[in-house]
Amino acid sequence: MSIVLQTQDLVRRFGGFVATDHVDLSIEAGARHALIGPNGAGKTTLINLLTGYLAPTAGRIGLLGQDVTRMSQHERCRRGLVRTFQINQLFDDMTVLESVALAVSERHGQGDRWWKPLAAQTDTVEEAAAILEQLGLLPDAYELTRHLAYGRQRLIEIALALALRPKVLLLDEPAAGVPTSESRELFEVIAQLPREVTILLIEHDMDLVFRFAERISVLVSGALLLEDTPEVIATHPLVRQVYLGESDG
Ligand code: ADP
Ligand code: MG
Repeated sequence: MSIVLQTQDLVRRFGGFVATDHVDLSIEAGARHALIGPNGAGKTTLINLLTGYLAPTAGRIGLLGQDVTRMSQHERCRRGLVRTFQINQLFDDMTVLESVALAVSERHGQGDRWWKPLAAQTDTVEEAAAILEQLGLLPDAYELTRHLAYGRQRLIEIALALALRPKVLLLDEPAAGVPTSESRELFEVIAQLPREVTILLIEHDMDLVFRFAERISVLVSGALLLEDTPEVIATHPLVRQVYLGESDG
């Protein structure tokens, strides 16, 4: 299997504090890979380094065989590395379909033609509708995003990411703040995304992690403790030690 995303000896310090501690992480094409670890372990920092939101103190990041360590977020995104958006502020007064069509249109480099009536941009709208269908959002196409239940709103965030045609999708706690009743459905939809999209997921709900992931990396104090299958991770003494008293697992 080929590696689509890789870090080599990646380090990030905040002053004297080491948030990312010599991390070597490899994500295979088509992977359903989860990154777990206690609060403050450095999971979000690692995602921020991968996307280019943060610059590493040392080390390298490879995306689809190219060194992207010094590339901008936008350049990495253009090459297929996409993380979910926080839509709460962005698309409050737009419908679900308009929001996703705007993201598709941006990818086509037609953001400046957005003043054209939506109906005149057939390809864009069709592509957006196909994404909504894939995520089970089609019935909500003409709803304002802010009128949707929180779990459905998080699905729009994934729809916006898919509009950018990701090769690698980074999901940082996609079910954060979503009631348990809705998070199951959210994860079923995520699990059904096509294999062309490699997924790296951060999630603290172990039930959801074990249901979704085929590969799990455990991050502790900025360093990778171990990486293995869910079966091995679930019963590993080191992982139990790390999570003792952390969650109901
Ligand atoms: P996680 O996502 O695993 O909960 P984070 O990556 O958010 O952990 O944070 C890891 C550690 O790095 C925490 O101790 C946090 O306080 C610290 N940290 C994160 N971002 C910054 C920053 N911009 N400046 C200083 N410290 C930071
Ligand atoms: Mg985090």
